[in-house]
Amino acid sequence: MGFDTSGLLPLSDALQGMLAQLDGCSESEQLPLPEALGRVLAMDIASPLSVPPFDNSAMDGYAVRLADLAGGAPLIMAGKAFAGQPYQGEWPAGHCVRIMTGAPVPAGTDAVVMQEETQADGDRITFLTTPVPGQNIRRRGEDIREGASVLAAGTRLTAREMPLLASLGIASVSVRRPLKVAIFSTGDELKPVGTPLAHGDIYDSNRYGVRAMLDRMGCDCLDLGIIPDDPAQLRAAFLKADREADALITTGGVSVGEADFTKQLLEELGEIGFWKLAIKPGKPFAFGRLPHAWFFGLPGNPVSAMVTFDQLVQPALAKLAGQRFERPLQLQAIATEPLKKAPGRLDFQRGILAQGQNGLEVRSTGSQDSAVFSSLSRANCYIVLERERGRVAAGETVTVEPFGGLLL
Ligand code: AMP
Ligand code: MG
Repeated sequence: MGFDTSGLLPLSDALQGMLAQLDGCSESEQLPLPEALGRVLAMDIASPLSVPPFDNSAMDGYAVRLADLAGGAPLIMAGKAFAGQPYQGEWPAGHCVRIMTGAPVPAGTDAVVMQEETQADGDRITFLTTPVPGQNIRRRGEDIREGASVLAAGTRLTAREMPLLASLGIASVSVRRPLKVAIFSTGDELKPVGTPLAHGDIYDSNRYGVRAMLDRMGCDCLDLGIIPDDPAQLRAAFLKADREADALITTGGVSVGEADFTKQLLEELGEIGFWKLAIKPGKPFAFGRLPHAWFFGLPGNPVSAMVTFDQLVQPALAKLAGQRFERPLQLQAIATEPLKKAPGRLDFQRGILAQGQNGLEVRSTGSQDSAVFSSLSRANCYIVLERERGRVAAGETVTVEPFGGLLL
């Protein structure tokens, strides 16, 4: 893998290295459409019908034949077409049909003239404009043609896909089984919320972040709680996770001072790489394989844990879940204040992006220490600063990445 002279592994190499090893899960189940929300399609979907299924009116108005309008005389209304109630009567020359939005256009219709461009005197309709052929007609299949591919396997079903599938009459879909992901926090200093803290203790906050992000990804979470820095208890937790889950995510215990401990244990149980990533926050990171589950060891510092989950674990879990994954767009913005940065690592600083008078502007959330969680909670984007870049002066252009689904 691409370690360079600094001994640090670039983020892109770490990602590629992980993704190359991971395979998507192939188990699937058929679910009624409403229950499939948030799940990942197991199969491509081709449209069983055309949308719209028939030529219909885009306006409330009158269906006309252009030849009838040529003389400029008023037309007589032959009848009415409503959505769900097509006009089925005769349509003699010199007549028009009153038509509502969504109603099928009667055979022979050349155009629909909107009501506002007509004058009605009883059944005699005068047309104030001359329509062009096809005006205000939505054509059969104009949105989706029968047989066309609409959604690809790997698509996560959201509020945007559900009505699309319903419009095709699809009542149930084949979706991938959700991933089961075990999590635990490590550290003798960690106490669960709802209990008092002794001197030297802190609350275990990482598990709440990791759980929330897993929930956002649609994974089933097996929460194994807090495991103290004790080899026997750690071992038992690793083995339980390996038996019961597809993947295990831990936080803490992978930094230089603590890694030896976990390292020994994990090397005995599986094949794990302990990496020093060329990113900030989030240098220490472990990835590998237990006998039956994938392992992701995140740093203990709360900001580092969230950022490495978002940047590295998210794409990896997406691949395991059979889900297509794209990172949020990156944009350019003007830094309104100087940003501290030393060359050597790719920085994911936390920023506040806003619309300024001359375009997008971004400022820092303050201290970027990886233990300062408010730097993340007050942010709405990453300020992504290139590895070799140094300090940023006010007014310089920087790359920003608005937070994606996991952090919203
Ligand atoms: P470690 O990676 O275990 O050396 O932890 C690095 C720092 O993150 C230490 O200050 C830990 O106390 C803190 N930390 C570790 N795990 C958690 C957690 N679950 N919640 C909050 N802080 C943590
Ligand atoms: Mg620790």
